[in-house]
Order: sequence, then C-alpha cells, then structure tokens
Amino acid sequence: MSQAILPGSTIGVLGSGQLGRMFAIAARRLGYRVQVFSPDDDTPAGQVADVEVQSSYSDMDAVAGFARQVDVVTFEFENVPVETINAVERFAPVHPAGRVLHTAQQRLREKQFLHLAGIPVTPFRTVQTVDDLQAVGDDELPAVLKTAAWGYDGKGQAKVESREELEAAWRELNCAEAVLEKFVDFEAELSVVAARGQDGAVALYGPIMNTHRNHILDVSVTPTRFPKPIVDEARDIARALLAELEVVGVLCVEFFLTTHGKLLVNELAPRPHNSGHLTIDAYVACQFEQQVRAVCGLPLGSATQVRPAAMVNLLGDIWQDGEPDWRQALTDRNVKLHLYGKRDARIGRKMGHLTVLADSPNEAVEQALAARGRLTSTNTSFSPV
Ligand code: AMP
Repeated sequence: MSQAILPGSTIGVLGSGQLGRMFAIAARRLGYRVQVFSPDDDTPAGQVADVEVQSSYSDMDAVAGFARQVDVVTFEFENVPVETINAVERFAPVHPAGRVLHTAQQRLREKQFLHLAGIPVTPFRTVQTVDDLQAVGDDELPAVLKTAAWGYDGKGQAKVESREELEAAWRELNCAEAVLEKFVDFEAELSVVAARGQDGAVALYGPIMNTHRNHILDVSVTPTRFPKPIVDEARDIARALLAELEVVGVLCVEFFLTTHGKLLVNELAPRPHNSGHLTIDAYVACQFEQQVRAVCGLPLGSATQVRPAAMVNLLGDIWQDGEPDWRQALTDRNVKLHLYGKRDARIGRKMGHLTVLADSPNEAVEQALAARGRLTSTNTSFSPV
C-alpha cells in the first residue's frame, strides 16, 4: 500500500464543475489544499479551491506544471482526455487510475467490459456505418442510439421507434461510432454509489432511486422500497465492479430495474455522482469525503444513513424569470440548499440542488418537490411560516 497523503497536502482536480466544487469543499474541511485545472475560469470548483489553473487539457506543459504542484490528482468528470491523465501520472499519482477512466469514458468499451465481466447490461450492438443498420432486427426496436464517446445527460442520443427513425438518427448524430441499445421498459432507475479505499475497503450508498426528466436526473431518494434480493444484487454488482476495476475512489453504477424485475447496468461513472448528492446531508460520510479519503490513502468513512432523504435538482430553467427567491424554499426548515456558483443559468443546466431529510422517503420527496415548486410558482412574494 502506498503512503498516505495527509491533511495539509495538495490535491489536484481535473475538471472544475459542481462535482469538483463539492469535492473541494470536502477536501478543505479535511484540511487539504486544492488546485483545480480546466479550460474555464471563475468555475464552481475554482471559486472554492486554493488555486484555479485555466488551461486546455491538451496543453501538456501546463498539465505537467500543474501536476508538479500537487501531491495527488483526481478528476471530476470522465471526459478528461486519457493523454492528459497519462501526462499527469509522470509527476503525481492519479486516482481512480487512468484505466478506469479509459473504460468508462466510451460507451462501447464500457459495455463490452461489463458484458465480458458477466454483468447484466442492456442488449446492445455497435454501429459504425449505415450498412450496420441493415442487420438490426425488428425485435431490437424500439431502441436508443447513443454516440460511443462524449455523451452525458442524454446528449448524443436519440430514441428510435422504426428503421426510418433509426437511419435519420444515425445521420443526425453524425459520429464515427454509436451504440444501439434496446429500449428498456423499466420499473425504476437505481444507482449505487460505491467507494473503495487503497486498502481495498468498500463503502456503498443505496440503491438510490432516480427519476429523470428530459434525460436529466430530476429526483433521487433513498432508502428505496425494493425487495431485499434486488437491493443485495445491486450492491453486489457495485462491489464486484469496484474490485474488477481496482477502483481507488468513487464509482457510480446506474441500473435499470426492468418491469420483469431484472437489474441491468445502464452506465458507470468513475467519480461522485449527481444521485449521490444527498449523501452530503444524509450520511455520516458523504461521497465526496470518501473520494478525498480514498485518493489520499486514508481509511474510508462510514456510509451509514442518518435519515431518509430526497434530492431534487435545480436546473437553469427556474431562473428564466430572474433569480429565484431562495427564501421560498427555505421556509421549510428541513430543506438544505446547495448552489454551484454558476453565472449562466441556461435551460437544462445544473445550477444547484435541494436535499430534504424526513421521517420517510415519501415525505422527503414531497417536501423537496414542494420547496422547488415554491421557487417556480413565484419569486417575488415571501411569507414566512
Ligand atoms: P444515459 O445518458 O445513457 O444514462 O441516458 C440518460 C437517461 O435516458 C437514462 O437515465 C434513462 O432515463 C434514459 N435511457 C437511456 N438509455 C435507455 C434505454 N436503453 N432504455 C430506456 N431508457 C433509456
């Protein structure tokens, strides 16, 4: 086991969005210094870091200069080029290792890996040319065509019902390689956020139940009402993937639970995940603290849930009539407000989230939705209760 990197040391983060911000807050709470690296400035993570480096991921001199300044490096989104990670690794350890990122940042590679590892995945086929579409059987439709690279939050994907729609979607995506996935009739979407330390210790959160709107996560809640065998299987799969990929850090496993009661892995994210944001308020140690502990070689913290919790995302949509009146959400004392410091509130952009702890998961969801509803129905009159 490598030597622990102790508080007072400097952690480098590649990427500077909200995940980097919440990571940096956890790291600073533990007494670390944080430097973030991304092409942007005044970023969510940069605002709370000690140092914000603004440079392109392909500027290898800048990457090397950054890596020399820090004791260990992690990343906060999976689209950091692997070449950048390789350049960093010459000067500082990177966790999770570049290999985990390499597997998870390309859908096809990820699905092939899962399939070979014997993990149940959504039925899929590779599409590289228009001729590949001829081989698609009628039983494979409806389906979702997804670009193999650089997709997130439903970007680079299209649902297709017919061959005509499939051909049109292939032309529209205009990419070198795509994955055609059977459309899954699911009862629910679940995730398990899983952390693994350098000593091989594991901490698991969930399953967390997630609902999406326009392919973007909308509501997360845990604990769930699913039968124990489903809960155990989801956690076992996450545990197996942590070991198989030798993850040091956090890995989120997203699942479909089909209407036939079968779990299928949808995708992996080798980092803290939006569905795990409720761990900040509802667990002894949150997903970001686990990432800090894991990458620095400290023992993991407890993933014990303190109370049932729900999280709702706040997208740029609710800014369309001006800055929401946050007091409206906070009239309920159980509401925890998290904002990411983003200046530009675009439709669909993740700007923040609300978490509510309550006596039951249903109450937590109801209160979280009500709080968000108060933000969207009005942003002028405020009546304390
Ligand atoms: P993804 O970026 O692949 O996680 O997709 C975003 C969301 O689109 C998922 O969370 C699902 O709600 C939906 N989705 C993606 N793939 C499928 C599929 N094969 N069948 C049904 N829904 C899907």
